Amino acid sequence: MTIICNYKVENIIHEDSQFIINDDLISKTVLITTGNGAFKPKAFPLPIPTSIDNKLSYFVKNPQDYQNKEVAVLGGGDSALDWALELSQYAKVSLIHRRNQFRGLESNVEKVKHNSQISVLTPYLPANLIDNSGRCELSLKKVGTDETKTIVFDNLIVAYGFRANNRFVKKWGIELENDLIKVDRKMETSVKGIFAAGDSVGYDGRVPIIGIGFGEAQVAITSIMQTIFPNKKMTIHSTSI
Ligand SMILES: Cc1cc2nc3c(=O)[nH]c(=O)nc-3n(C[C@H](O)[C@H](O)[C@H](O)COP(=O)(O)OP(=O)(O)OC[C@H]3O[C@@H](n4cnc5c(N)ncnc54)[C@H](O)[C@@H]3O)c2cc1C
Repeated sequence: MTIICNYKVENIIHEDSQFIINDDLISKTVLITTGNGAFKPKAFPLPIPTSIDNKLSYFVKNPQDYQNKEVAVLGGGDSALDWALELSQYAKVSLIHRRNQFRGLESNVEKVKHNSQISVLTPYLPANLIDNSGRCELSLKKVGTDETKTIVFDNLIVAYGFRANNRFVKKWGIELENDLIKVDRKMETSVKGIFAAGDSVGYDGRVPIIGIGFGEAQVAITSIMQTIFPNKKMTIHSTSI
């Protein structure tokens, strides 16, 4: 087995019963596990002064970098809640969201509400951002009112989610439904020999969690083995396949 890291699959061509990947790899079958696909974070919606643009991040690489800082986390989903909780171990956090309700895991919403290191500011939208002596002076507007407030932070973490899609697989002839890859019960896509598993696939009732993806990968790998070695007897119940 060869493992190739930091490799983006741009193209797959079907030729002579094999698949040519990016013009440099050849395979009898392909298993797509691209999750939500190519994604980029939803951008902060206001102009960012260049003097403080290094204070705004879409990812947290090392929470300890925020030790003793005042940090605003913007967003109301799982990532925003996760980062607010994680950073609260090191920093004073303000969680700013445009609605009073959060979309994330209920238990995390409760943890945030009871965390003395986290101030929840809802329903607020960022209205302006300026440089205040190298810090981020953020003006907030209360949704549905004329009320505004201004707070100065050391850092802003923007967790508005991601724009993601798997539409790029369409050019390989693979059918999508609601932007997710259509598969049959063997996890085979509309292109014979190309299989898919994990969050990139969609079917009625699918839940996008790790356990389901693991199960689908097992089904896909079993199907691939049966495709490549149709006469081979396999111990289907073994997890080593
Ligand atoms: C904030 C958050 C919290 C979550 N919490 C939980 C939880 O508590 N429990 C749980 O079970 N699930 C949780 N999930 C869901 C879980 O993370 C996913 O179900 C799981 O990661 C899906 O696995 P996957 O392998 O299908 O996709 P991913 O884990 O998304 O992996 C896809 C990989 O494919 C790569 N890729 C994409 N396009 C290409 C390309 N063209 N070429 C090469 N590589 C490519 C990506 O870079 C990525 O590394 C959570 C998700 C989020 C966003």
